[in-house]
Amino acid sequence: MSELPADRRPPVVVRVDDAHPDGEVLDAAAPLIGIEDEGYTRGDGVFETMLAVDGAVRKLPRHLARLAHSARLLQLPAPDEDRWRAAVATVLRVAAREGIGTATDLGEETVVKLLVSRGDPTRGAYGLVIVSPVPESTLAAREQGVRALLLPRGHDPAEDAAYPWLLTGAKTLSYAVNMAVLRHVRSLGAQDAIWTASDRRILEGATSSVIAARRTGDRITLLTPEPNHGILPGTTQGAIFAAARERGWELGYGPLYPVDLLESDGVWLASSVRLLAPVTHLDHQVLPVDRELTRLLTSFLTA
Ligand code: PLP
Repeated sequence: MSELPADRRPPVVVRVDDAHPDGEVLDAAAPLIGIEDEGYTRGDGVFETMLAVDGAVRKLPRHLARLAHSARLLQLPAPDEDRWRAAVATVLRVAAREGIGTATDLGEETVVKLLVSRGDPTRGAYGLVIVSPVPESTLAAREQGVRALLLPRGHDPAEDAAYPWLLTGAKTLSYAVNMAVLRHVRSLGAQDAIWTASDRRILEGATSSVIAARRTGDRITLLTPEPNHGILPGTTQGAIFAAARERGWELGYGPLYPVDLLESDGVWLASSVRLLAPVTHLDHQVLPVDRELTRLLTSFLTA
């Protein structure tokens, strides 16, 4: 077992390609990416970030479906589902041996990333599965919530959907903009960003979906921006809404505006590893934090 702090332990990496259908375990400390790899030099590739608890990936079918969709949009050959499943099993076996998980109320948690790079012109596309520790900041966001700022996306991404080369709805490796907006909000003392369209419509977080709840007596309504309107359809939001529908809750798919979040009984940023981070402040205005509802919605993901 490594002596490094829990969230600094080196990842476990498995490569998936025709030569290694079950995944080849690589040395994470060795050079793994070629200098001409277009996933690296152009951000030309796709990925998924998933949560594993006690060696089992949560919502794996939803992630595999979205990865295949992203790959199709980029005309990128991606390994089939059986290969991914075999590689994920291989990498999680090694990760358990290395002890890189974090013990939480849910169990032993790790982050599992699937990645497809265009590769280099000689060797072509390939897949990687990478298991790493859960960042401390992510666990803190679940518990303590986040201060979020509303920031313009600069245009209406729903309009991008007409142009397939804009890759709307693909989870591509080009996340520099998403990281830049997080640096921006942090420089202003907040922890997260919620993007708005040119008409101030709520879109999504930098790396999350937005969910709001309204209570009317005993009835709960969940709201989220239209998932296929220029934003990434979140697997976490999708799973929560599917469970809520089974319970007969009312569901709304936007459009949502800032006032709708400010008048809600709870707002969360939802994503696979963070699960649900309550938004405690939106543009410096205090939002209600409903711990009981947070626990209930989280239980939809962990049941
Ligand atoms: N929207 C964006 C831009 C994201 O990057 C993510 C996750 O990283 C999400 C939404 C939430 O997706 P999921 O719930 O599938 O993790």
